[in-house]
Amino acid sequence: MNRRSFLLSTGLAAGVSAAPQNAPVRPEPVESATPTDRPAIVLSQIGFLPKCRKTVIYRLAPGGIVPENFTLRDVGGPPQPFSLSRPLAKAPGDVPNCLIGDFSDLEREGFYQITTGRERCAPFFVRPDAWRRTLPKAVSYHHAQRCGIAVPNIHPACHLDDARRRDTGEHVDVTGGWHDAGDLRKWMDATMMAGFGLLRLARHLGDRWDLGGSGIGVLLDEMRWGNRYFLKMQDKDGRVWADTAGGVNGDNSDNHWTDNQAGTADDRYINPAKPAMVQAMFIALQAMVSQAFAESDPGYSQSCLAAGVRCWEATEHPRQTRDLSWRLLAAVELYRARPDSHFAQEAAKLGDALAAFQISSFIASQRKVRGFWAAGDARQTPFCDPVYSALPAIAMLELAIALPSHPAVPRWRDAVRLYLDEYVIPMSARSAYGVMPLGLFLGSPTQETYRPLEGELTYRYFMPTRQRSWWLGVTSHLESHAALLATAAKALRKPEYRELAFRQMEWVMGNNPFGASLMTGEGWRNSYPYSRFAGPLIGGIVNGVAGNAQDVPILQMEYGTDWRTGEYWTPHNAFYLWALSQLES
Ligand SMILES: [Zn+2]
Repeated sequence: MNRRSFLLSTGLAAGVSAAPQNAPVRPEPVESATPTDRPAIVLSQIGFLPKCRKTVIYRLAPGGIVPENFTLRDVGGPPQPFSLSRPLAKAPGDVPNCLIGDFSDLEREGFYQITTGRERCAPFFVRPDAWRRTLPKAVSYHHAQRCGIAVPNIHPACHLDDARRRDTGEHVDVTGGWHDAGDLRKWMDATMMAGFGLLRLARHLGDRWDLGGSGIGVLLDEMRWGNRYFLKMQDKDGRVWADTAGGVNGDNSDNHWTDNQAGTADDRYINPAKPAMVQAMFIALQAMVSQAFAESDPGYSQSCLAAGVRCWEATEHPRQTRDLSWRLLAAVELYRARPDSHFAQEAAKLGDALAAFQISSFIASQRKVRGFWAAGDARQTPFCDPVYSALPAIAMLELAIALPSHPAVPRWRDAVRLYLDEYVIPMSARSAYGVMPLGLFLGSPTQETYRPLEGELTYRYFMPTRQRSWWLGVTSHLESHAALLATAAKALRKPEYRELAFRQMEWVMGNNPFGASLMTGEGWRNSYPYSRFAGPLIGGIVNGVAGNAQDVPILQMEYGTDWRTGEYWTPHNAFYLWALSQLES
């Protein structure tokens, strides 16, 4: 995973030892760049469903012309030429110098291009499977990340000697699983996300997930492959270890190919730490695996459930919002796997604990937003996380869906509504692109730009760059909100949420100030990915657009050496599958 490697590559982390001599280090990330004037016209390069909101953004160059209209043509060569013109209007909000055009009324299927004067955009489809057809590519990324086996055209069999314990030196067979990103390490949290993505896809769409008809077996086989590793990472006490090959001192020393011979000097290490979030994710995942295999392989289903329950019994309820959210999801999935169990009561109890961290009144001398979560400490610091930002509301909504007749359901639903209606919707409305800022802050915690909201509350679209020694792009933040909004549109019967979900996904697929698709093999203007061992992988999604100290968007569009914006990372593919399968279900 990116951040921990960054600690070494910069030497900024307190207490980080120097890397052993000859240890592989990551290159210093080069600076990502702010947007140039081109392309002038940006929009979803995947295209649009016939019945959904469709917008195009025209980015004004300083001193350039200000067009009043745009023209859209079917460039697919229909027998009768087809075109239409629509007005462009100044977009309100935080994105300066841009116009927005709306052509939502166009439901005619076709292959289109928009022009304004001499400018043109990437061609795009309007068709019912515009998004759906990307699913097999996003799934294939996970297959390409397999470790412990040859992946044809990617790499020969690798890491058959994983690994030895850091503390005792004992060799434990933890071969298998997936590499997690643009490198070769196997963090449990990041790679278990692959499981959540695959199983959400299987749950939402079943055999229909691939229009090519490959069937649900492909997803289950991939899940079983990854899970072999996750199960091996469970210690005798029921809890699971944090990672294999993460790096001995937060460094990159394990980030290398090996000779595949156990007991030699290049063997990699198991990190025997047992963080609370990893335990909760493991439990939730095993409960989902158990449900997915209940019919096709009851024995395997039962053994995975037993592994999850053992971990549940060996661990306690965490006290921080992020970890508590995962623990709640774990209880919900255990209940779904065993409906006759006490996990319904456990889930309800956890739901109330998580609700206690929601800020439901107006704080910090402002009346603009409420309903966001606090981080879980004594002070009311707003919860902010580049990967799991939507998780508290997702867990709360899953609880309400799983226990529909529980007396507290109206309260849980109201908590989600408050988050969406009084926080997500007003904050997203501040961007012409319709995307959620990363989070709220109290004042200016670091010496860089925090956008004033009202009172003492501020916000940023992107991670602060001076708060920690690492920062990265916001792809998972946006996609996880898409997953939340898509689920809420159905559960709370509000189509507006579905529209907003698509805005978050469209940013990933090219509707951003760089006109850059963040998925390799889809759209255009992909930057060369940071993927030092496997090279470009079809369907891989990069960390994406980050911000500089001024909260101005940055993305590396050239040489592929900036992991902060350019690195593949499994959570992005996972939330993509989660959100899109929910939108398509
Ligand atoms: Zn490997």
